Amino acid sequence: MKVNEVPGFPCPQCGKLVHIDFAEFLRTGEATCSYCLLRLSIDRKASDAFVETMRSPPIMRGGKGR
Ligand SMILES: [Zn+2]
Repeated sequence: MKVNEVPGFPCPQCGKLVHIDFAEFLRTGEATCSYCLLRLSIDRKASDAFVETMRSPPIMRGGKGR
């Protein structure tokens, strides 16, 4: 999996890659195909899994000193 790849998925209607505005996607759970303007609602469960794969694990560190 390439890290610098633009997040997206193939549009079910026109087959072009739908680029996701990630902030918008997280807020609304929707993405719009910029080619055919098909509006896609992403299943909440699927989007959670998607977010999990995109997000790097949080780095937990103890405080310095003490
Ligand atoms: Zn499309």
